[in-house]
Amino acid sequence: METYDVIIIGTGAGGGTLARHLAPSGKKILLLERGDWLPREPQNWLSQNVFVENRYVSEDTWYDEKGKPFQPQIHYFVGGATKLYGAALYRLRAEDFGELAHHDGISPAWPISYDELEPYYTQAEQLYQVHGARGEDPTEPPSSAPYPHPAVSHEPRIQQLSDQLAAAGYHPFHAPCGILLNEANMAYSTCVRCANCDGFPCPVHAKADAEVLGVRPALEHANVTLLRNAKAVRLETNESGTAVTDVVVEHNGGTENFAGNVVVVACGAANTARLLLASANDKHPNGLANGSDQVGRNFMFHDSVAVLALSREENPTVYQKTLGLNDFYFGSDDFEYPLGNIQMVGKSQAPMFHGEKPGETKLAPEWTLERVARHAIDFWLSTEDLPRPENRVSVDRDGKLTLSYAETNAEAKKQLYEKLHSILGKLDLNPGHLFHRFAYMKNEIPVAGCAHQAGTCRFGADPGTSVLDVDCKAHELDNLYVVDTSIFPSIGAVNPALTAMANSLRVGDRLLERLAA
Ligand SMILES: Cc1cc2nc3c(=O)[nH]c(=O)nc-3n(C[C@H](O)[C@H](O)[C@H](O)COP(=O)(O)OP(=O)(O)OC[C@H]3O[C@@H](n4cnc5c(N)ncnc54)[C@H](O)[C@@H]3O)c2cc1C
Ligand code: SF4
Repeated sequence: METYDVIIIGTGAGGGTLARHLAPSGKKILLLERGDWLPREPQNWLSQNVFVENRYVSEDTWYDEKGKPFQPQIHYFVGGATKLYGAALYRLRAEDFGELAHHDGISPAWPISYDELEPYYTQAEQLYQVHGARGEDPTEPPSSAPYPHPAVSHEPRIQQLSDQLAAAGYHPFHAPCGILLNEANMAYSTCVRCANCDGFPCPVHAKADAEVLGVRPALEHANVTLLRNAKAVRLETNESGTAVTDVVVEHNGGTENFAGNVVVVACGAANTARLLLASANDKHPNGLANGSDQVGRNFMFHDSVAVLALSREENPTVYQKTLGLNDFYFGSDDFEYPLGNIQMVGKSQAPMFHGEKPGETKLAPEWTLERVARHAIDFWLSTEDLPRPENRVSVDRDGKLTLSYAETNAEAKKQLYEKLHSILGKLDLNPGHLFHRFAYMKNEIPVAGCAHQAGTCRFGADPGTSVLDVDCKAHELDNLYVVDTSIFPSIGAVNPALTAMANSLRVGDRLLERLAA
């Protein structure tokens, strides 16, 4: 059996980014991905296929703490969840790296400061071609470089909303977007600025995802091999349990072993925990690297709400995800605890309502689904979810995955919703541009909507309370690393992917030092 210098399991935001970073080293690198290439096909852009028929959602069944089965909204493809993501590529706020008091308790500090991650955020923004504008968002952390690309322009209806918010004293900003758009020269732009981005795959490969900008560039190096449809099911260790020796993989209907000097797990928060727990052995009876009993615990996934604001006028916006609002990120005049982030979500389309909660789309009879979609302005509200040890992934002997979860910060989430409600009611609109009345349809994302899952293998200085050390190496094993969102000690209230990418680059530098030694 040949031995690889590095085996990376999972090719999403964490694994795909690491692969690209390590590829030029010339080291022998194996990428294991349980999924295949996401097919480029017309259905990529059809909301019926994507949102109603769940064409790109895994067929896994997981169970909640009561044993009720559900289908998790996760995606097994080269590029992982980033194939479907909205590519809103935010940095965590500098304060998110410290301890923060929330309504429901403490959001714990990270073992590294914002300043330590900052250079890697800058690199990640360059790698993923983030478009944005510094200086507009009052909560924005300091940065050592401008965004590599200009902000994506607002379309007229969103520009109007931005102007009205500013006139009302708020601080709307251009959201950081990872799309390969060149507005100055659309004839040569890879991105065509379409309506089917957030939650859809991009068939023209214009989304800054981990396949397009992570895995494919890595594969240009002859020393990197990608094995698709290769599901890691177990990690074997040496007799003393101090190092991983082999990755056991289901591939082509059989089982194969691959040996690696360094093994990096990046399967996404739930599946990374599953793999470590399923790899229990005599030396690690509770699961690999789990002497602290923290593997699988502290599962977080943002308290998110999608809200449609209906105006009497139509909203003809095509690419809507260009505006953000963080005025309530750390609290408000009447609520001392953090509330969270408000941003736009992809423009709603009638078939999407069927994929969500058809019952709630039954407004007055004249509001057909098509009409609702035409008039909707679509917001996405995210409140920080706090890590609780009881919110956890566990795996039984047959590999059945249970996700036990109880919401945190429900009051802050409610307050954020009410803030948006009151803002929209207060906006001073010109006659003819009507915000006279809004009707809201709330779609609360249930636990199955685990797009922003994080936290199951947190990193920290103390082996008693964390799984990984500050370099994201398992405290208990010499050569096992984790680089996906499972490392997050807290999740903040902005989208997680850029932080996972930046951290991969940071850990990648530690690995390059190790490989060169
Ligand atoms: C619809 C949607 C919209 C989103 N929008 C945004 C957004 O706008 N901004 C943002 O920041 N984030 C967004 N996210 C979240 C973002 O995509 C994730 O936070 C990010 O991709 C997580 O990276 P990861 O490396 O932890 O996991 P993933 O990207 O999910 O990668 C995990 C990979 O591991 C593979 N894998 C799993 N198990 C195994 C195994 N046993 N063996 C081999 N391979 C395995 C999977 O197939 C997958 O490729 C969105 C997610 C979704 C689903
Ligand atoms: S907006 Fe651009 S990146 Fe997004 S799906 Fe459309 S073409 Fe692709």
